[in-house]
Amino acid sequence: MSNDRRIVIIGAGVAGLTTALELLDQGHTEITVLEQHGPGFGSSGKSAGVIETQYLDRSGIHVRDFGLRYFERFADDHGIALVRSGYLRYGGCDADMELFQRSLDIQREFGITDPVLLTPREVEERWPALVTDGRVGAVFGPSDGHVESYEFSLRAASVLVARDVPLLLGVALLGAERDANGAWTLQTSAGDVTADIVINAAGPWAKHVSELFGAPMPLNNQLRPKVKMTHSEPLDPMVPFVMDYVPGSGRDGIYFRSEAPNEIFVGIHTDESIQEERNPDDVLGPAPQVFIDRVRDLLPTRLRVPQGLVLGRTWSGLYPISPDNKPIVGASRAAADVVHVMGAGGSGIQLAPAMGRMAAEIALTGTTTSFPDTDWGTARLGLA
Ligand SMILES: Cc1cc2nc3c(=O)[nH]c(=O)nc-3n(C[C@H](O)[C@H](O)[C@H](O)COP(=O)(O)OP(=O)(O)OC[C@H]3O[C@@H](n4cnc5c(N)ncnc54)[C@H](O)[C@@H]3O)c2cc1C
Repeated sequence: MSNDRRIVIIGAGVAGLTTALELLDQGHTEITVLEQHGPGFGSSGKSAGVIETQYLDRSGIHVRDFGLRYFERFADDHGIALVRSGYLRYGGCDADMELFQRSLDIQREFGITDPVLLTPREVEERWPALVTDGRVGAVFGPSDGHVESYEFSLRAASVLVARDVPLLLGVALLGAERDANGAWTLQTSAGDVTADIVINAAGPWAKHVSELFGAPMPLNNQLRPKVKMTHSEPLDPMVPFVMDYVPGSGRDGIYFRSEAPNEIFVGIHTDESIQEERNPDDVLGPAPQVFIDRVRDLLPTRLRVPQGLVLGRTWSGLYPISPDNKPIVGASRAAADVVHVMGAGGSGIQLAPAMGRMAAEIALTGTTTSFPDTDWGTARLGLA
């Protein structure tokens, strides 16, 4: 495909930004990014930013390994921090531990050799503040960590601008029509823009954007609040990112990590849609009281609550979740020139590099060859 086809990306969150950077790396320069507010305005600016490989299936580990290596390189090249605070996932039964052992075996195939299984006693010896009651063990990845995903969004946007990519901030896509040549005329809040190929990377708004192109995609936005707490008694050692949720378990679970000796971040995670769908244009505001009450109930079951614990800042964001909880990357039969890259739920930061690679390949060649073990295309939804 020639380099002069005009690719317009809707959204400057992690999905849109990694796709734009990948297009540049693949030699394509005719790119414009439209962002209705600023980089990281959506879910990408509200995330915990965790990047880890303690997943349970081969393809889930493959794409996360790719993501971790991507953020390592990006951090080195562009001066953002990838904090290796480690990631610990609790197991609630022997079957969980078997899944974790299999995960370690698969991770080794990808050259990730430092994760280990820990008994409850080993967990409490390493981090005396952690509580293991009712848990049979854990998997721990010491090299896993987190980025400040709002900072990543700003830095990735500045890299694009430095490489002469027009990044139109405060410009919203309002509508789309085909012109006489079959290209798209995009009606935006700043006038019309012409596109040969559109990348729909609009995060929780991606369902609405897909409808503007007559190529509707399913998405269920789920509210996920997060809170910061401070405590007068410092944690020594600080705790890694602790996740009390096992993928596919059908329940949600509390997560937390130390941000500083006197500070923890806390949230509640599940990959699945368990609440009513949320409109991304609603004001999300701080964490609802029902969530804060649940955190107060669950936290002591996993952490010996340090003295002087008080609630700090709270906020709410959205997980954009697809019907089968996997990302959607591809075009539908309704419009082969609109590539959707969306629906990564609570893993959208760590999966963005793989999603961006695949979306760029599809935009440039009509197909993707990277990550053949993923099933992120639109065919599985009956839309291809
Ligand atoms: C509390 C919380 C914690 C999380 N923790 C993690 C974590 O630890 N690790 C992890 O991997 N993931 C995590 N996630 C998930 C992750 O943040 C999201 O999956 C990811 O940020 C989605 O990125 P995106 O680029 O698809 O969407 P967004 O970041 O929402 O970007 C979409 C962009 O499109 C723009 N846009 C929308 N409509 C239009 C339009 N019409 N015109 C122009 N622009 C438009 C929006 O303004 C927005 O900036 C978390 C999410 C939340 C809420």
